[in-house]
Amino acid sequence: MQIQTTIFTLGGEFADPARESEFRAERMPEWLRHMRLVFLAAFVLNVVFFLSDWRFHGQPHFPAAMAARSVIVLASLTGAILVPKAGDPRRLALLCAAWGCAVIPAGAVLVSPGTDVALFVTFILPIIFHLLLPMPFTWTLAAGLACGGGLLTGYLSGDPWKSTVFGLVLAMLTENVVLSLLVIRANRLQRMEWAATRAAEASGRELDEHRRMLQTLLKAVPAPLLVLSRSHGALFQANAAARRFFGEAACSDAASIRACFRPEDFARLTSDLPPAGEVAEHEIRVFPPDGPPRDMLLVTTTAVAGGRETVLAILVDVTRRKEMEAHLQWLASTDPLTGLANRSRFFEEAAREIGRARRNGHPLAVLMVDIDYFKRINDTCGHDVGDAALRAFAGLCGGLLRGQDLAARLGGEEFGLLLPETDGGGGLVLAERLRAGVEDMRLEGLAGPMTISVGVSEVLPGEEAVDAALSRADHALYEAKRAGRNRAAACSRTAPDEASAGA
Ligand code: GH3
Ligand code: MG
Ligand code: MG
Repeated sequence: MQIQTTIFTLGGEFADPARESEFRAERMPEWLRHMRLVFLAAFVLNVVFFLSDWRFHGQPHFPAAMAARSVIVLASLTGAILVPKAGDPRRLALLCAAWGCAVIPAGAVLVSPGTDVALFVTFILPIIFHLLLPMPFTWTLAAGLACGGGLLTGYLSGDPWKSTVFGLVLAMLTENVVLSLLVIRANRLQRMEWAATRAAEASGRELDEHRRMLQTLLKAVPAPLLVLSRSHGALFQANAAARRFFGEAACSDAASIRACFRPEDFARLTSDLPPAGEVAEHEIRVFPPDGPPRDMLLVTTTAVAGGRETVLAILVDVTRRKEMEAHLQWLASTDPLTGLANRSRFFEEAAREIGRARRNGHPLAVLMVDIDYFKRINDTCGHDVGDAALRAFAGLCGGLLRGQDLAARLGGEEFGLLLPETDGGGGLVLAERLRAGVEDMRLEGLAGPMTISVGVSEVLPGEEAVDAALSRADHALYEAKRAGRNRAAACSRTAPDEASAGA
């Protein structure tokens, strides 16, 4: 909230009547106490003066003075009694004005003897009207002028042509101007102070509300949320989700929570942070004390809270998503019937292996396998047996191949094999092992043995893709078929002269 100093009237009051009323209403308790004191003081002092005035008993002015003093005493007593019933600022101002209406004429009578004391009182009483009575400025001004004018008239009534008349009138006017300026200044200062206090209270309330909202927000965030010190990783706060995820003990101090992260991941909470107002994301692995490791998306941002540089870290559990991604990846690269790699993965891996073989100068053998008379198996024994045969061959591959080898189903009953760090000779040895293994297999539902034919080739230096080697292996496979099937044939490095092995 902004304090606007331009909203005051000439009298230093708020220009907005509603705001002025609000200010006056808030001041009421203090004004009531104050006016009660003023009326009581006026009452007591005038009683004292009343008693002291008995000294002048018998003088011509005595009866009028005693009557006037009685009016002031009674008006002050009535004022003191009525103050608690004033209720609102307007009624209190009316009470002050009514008191003034009684006191000014009475005062004028009292100062009419024109003594030095009377002159003193003539100039003192306007001060009371200006400074002590809580009334709107215009009323105060009117009351001050009326008091000054009335008392000066009373003072001069005995001898209106005193040589000092002009000077006294000027002095009275000066007093009223000075007092009015004082009142204006006091009015403005009081209201500015009041507005500033109100603004500070409103800001405090707003701040409290924001703080509460932030706390509610932190609690309500369903993902684990940690608030840490940026400089030394001290844990300031962990929300309910974090306590559930990591456990109460882990959220008790910085060292326990740190133990749930890999050091390089925890370092992301104190260094490598985004600029203020921006957000950084990292995929990390978290190790909750009472559960399996989880893949999390760590979202960090920095803020200054309570003068401290803090890091807000939200952890979103992406384990399930990662599993799904891995599963989708597996589905996209795997043949569902045999569990072997599919055609597209075969070519991806082949490109990678050729690159590696070229870099390291290592050989890379490629095998093409085709099950012999597979159509006949399907036709005579049924597709289920055919499928089982395909799976059995995949199982055999799993048993005979090394970890770095790759077997893929390229389509139907054709398979492609990649054998890193293996030359054509080595490929032929494995091909023969496979052939023998298949021949030895006994499949349920299949009367005789199943056989395969294998074509073997090797990626030649300078070849950047597997296609040529695959084509040569296919050619060798064709030759193996032509030579009677159930055999492995190798394609020579440069020419399609095959060596063949098998039954
Ligand atoms: P060859 O010795 O010359 O290779 O004879 P073949 O009968 O094996 O060759 P062909 O290409 O004529 O037959 C391949 C058969 O493989 C035809 C098709 O029905 C069968 N086949 C292809 N995919 C599948 C499959 O997923 N499951 C089953 N059971 N059979 C399949
Ligand atoms: Mg075929
Ligand atoms: Mg076949």
